[in-house]
Amino acid sequence: MAKNASSSSSSSMQKINREDDELLLDGSESGWVEARTHCDHLDSLSPDLIHIPTPNTSCSRCEHPKENWLCLCCKEVLCSRFVNKHMLQHYQHQQHNLALSFSDLSVWCFSCDAYLDVQAIVPLRPAYETAYILKFGQPPPFRSVD
Ligand SMILES: [Zn+2]
Ligand SMILES: [Zn+2]
Ligand SMILES: [Zn+2]
Repeated sequence: MAKNASSSSSSSMQKINREDDELLLDGSESGWVEARTHCDHLDSLSPDLIHIPTPNTSCSRCEHPKENWLCLCCKEVLCSRFVNKHMLQHYQHQQHNLALSFSDLSVWCFSCDAYLDVQAIVPLRPAYETAYILKFGQPPPFRSVD
C-alpha cells in the first residue's frame, strides 16, 4: 500500500503539519493516519463559515501571532497545544470540538480525536475554502470526480 504517494489522485490525504505528528502518535499504532471521511459532531458547526478571521489572526487569549486554530463552532481563534493550548482548553470548557488549523488548513475533531477530510465532509468545505482563499489568494484544488 502506497503511503504518502505523490500521485495526483491521492490529493485527498491531508497534509499533516510536522508539529502535529506528535499529536497523532498517541492515538495511532500505524503511524499513518488518514483523515476521517465521516464525523458525528457537525451539529455544532457555525452556520456562517463564509465569514471567518484571516489566517494571521492572533490567539484571542495570549496573542500568539500565527499558526493558530479557528474554532468552527464560534469562530474564535486560539493557539495550538504546542503553544499555550488555548484551543484545547476551549474544547474542554466549551465543548467546541471542531477546529481548523491556519497553519495547514486541516480540520481536527476533538471528539473523534482525528483529522477530518474536508473534501469528503461537505459541511466543512465552506470554512476550508474560505480559509484557503484567505491564505493563498485562490480557491483550493478540490479533487475531481474521475
Ligand atoms: Zn493562546
Ligand atoms: Zn468555539
Ligand atoms: Zn467528530
